[in-house]
Amino acid sequence: MNSLKSILLLLLIIVGFNMIAQTSDPNESISLENKHILVVWGGWDGHQPDVFAKKISKWALKMGANVIVSDSLGVYTNKDLMAKQDLIIQYWTMGTITDEQSKGLIETIKNGAGLVGCHGGIGDSFRNNTDYQYMVGGQWVTHPGGKINYSVQISNTGDPITKDLKDFEIENTEQYYMHVDPNVRVLATTTFNADHDAWIEGNTMPVVWKKTHKKGKVFYISIGHNPEDFDHPAVWTMLTRGIDWASNGKKQGH
Ligand SMILES: [Zn+2]
Repeated sequence: MNSLKSILLLLLIIVGFNMIAQTSDPNESISLENKHILVVWGGWDGHQPDVFAKKISKWALKMGANVIVSDSLGVYTNKDLMAKQDLIIQYWTMGTITDEQSKGLIETIKNGAGLVGCHGGIGDSFRNNTDYQYMVGGQWVTHPGGKINYSVQISNTGDPITKDLKDFEIENTEQYYMHVDPNVRVLATTTFNADHDAWIEGNTMPVVWKKTHKKGKVFYISIGHNPEDFDHPAVWTMLTRGIDWASNGKKQGH
């Protein structure tokens, strides 16, 4: 009888634990165990890239990753360090990158590391570097009306990154108007109205995409002007699933 009681108690604990895990974190299935992630932040400080870097590093550590954080683009020239990385997460708006730094980053991605970023962090980084833009898959051009409210449509619910997500509204943040590479696989979009620039009314623009750059996987979400944008559950879910997907390039290649 005692052993039966112990088994029942154990079952209750397992069921209870699973219920807690399911309700507390929709991404509890993500594991970044044994992954090497480099987080690079800088550029225009209006985007508070340090706040984003801290938040995402803390989460990646919790998911089991080995995380290095750098506030210098010089890290891209460290060949030994770059060769070890499974994923680069960058938040660097505008600024300039040297040829050596740019080559270091692009070669790392071509060799199978992933690249993840949001908003201007990878989508408006080095405006004069077209090799870099070729890798990212799009470049910011404007945000009509500045900080506004707008809606996002999930366009591909069959993808693991957007699975089970529904269309949503996001408030007091920038709706990015971008020049986008036809090579991207679009996962979510937004449609512009006539409130600010009448001639773009009805134009649908990618908000979330995934793509490859040779062996590397690139994930981008254009939301993220404010650190609070990531408090929106759908935004956080897509970002973290995107990190999970993009960090698997090297492991799957072996
Ligand atoms: Zn912004």
